[in-house]
Amino acid sequence: MDEIRIKRLEVFAHHGVFPEENQLGQKFLVSAVLYTDLRRAGLTDELSHSMDYGAVCAEIHRYLTEHTFRLLETAAERLCAHLLRTLPQLARIRLEIEKPWAPIGLPLETASVCITRGWHTAYVALGSNLGDKTAYLDGAVQALRADADMRVQTVSDYLLTAPYGGVPQDDFLNAVLCVRTLLPPHELLARLHAIEQAAGRERLVHWGPRTLDLDILFYDDAVIADDDLHVPHPEIPKRAFVLRPLAQIAPYLVHPVYRRTITELLEALEQ
Ligand code: ATP
Ligand code: CA
Ligand code: CA
Repeated sequence: MDEIRIKRLEVFAHHGVFPEENQLGQKFLVSAVLYTDLRRAGLTDELSHSMDYGAVCAEIHRYLTEHTFRLLETAAERLCAHLLRTLPQLARIRLEIEKPWAPIGLPLETASVCITRGWHTAYVALGSNLGDKTAYLDGAVQALRADADMRVQTVSDYLLTAPYGGVPQDDFLNAVLCVRTLLPPHELLARLHAIEQAAGRERLVHWGPRTLDLDILFYDDAVIADDDLHVPHPEIPKRAFVLRPLAQIAPYLVHPVYRRTITELLEALEQ
């Protein structure tokens, strides 16, 4: 991806763990690599198709002087999130904050923190088979739309399906959605669990009735096999109620493990 680079913007601010640092302030040097697509700006010679680095510098300066953090880590984390949320063209950012006057009682050139953050693409499955199912799915979509760390891209139709897994229960209403998110996978899972909790989800019977179930299907091309998180969701190839709505919003998405498109996986299942 293309890059706009800002090198060592000087900001006088008050971050630090020592009270003197918060009172007196000191110099910080901010460097950033802004990852974005510059092709259109390059072809048209139009600033509106690029990111105005002057405006970005002014925003970095404003943010770091209007807030005070103890840690450079927190200053960098919050500043990245702020820029990614507010600059529509910014896909990813590498940010370094240097502290040339770090009060450690030893001579040093600088101490710094450098992090890379960005938007990721996740597919989420939604399911409900208790109470007002449509309202539970609508509520989940709304909760994601209201979250500053999420940008809901597309939502499939809601699909009524017979239950799965052998527990006698009411039909399910299922859907999938595509969301751009700033959250890493485990934080996304925790955010989805919080939405389930708010919908009164109780984990009584595995694969049993539930007001709201939110599963991560895909997260970029990540393959994750942790105790509490499997990505891609291992049941995808076996579940028509996931593959059908997925085929509606992402027919040519390629499964990163099976290397087949959603359409191909659905055709294989239906045969
Ligand atoms: P299934 O995952 O087969 O659809 P389920 O959704 O009914 O079953 P839950 O009781 O909702 O299962 O979740 C049990 C646990 O599964 C969660 O607490 C979570 O830690 C774990 N889990 C593993 N991988 C995922 C994933 N990709 N998405 C959501 N939860 C996951
Ligand atoms: Ca599930
Ligand atoms: Ca689940």
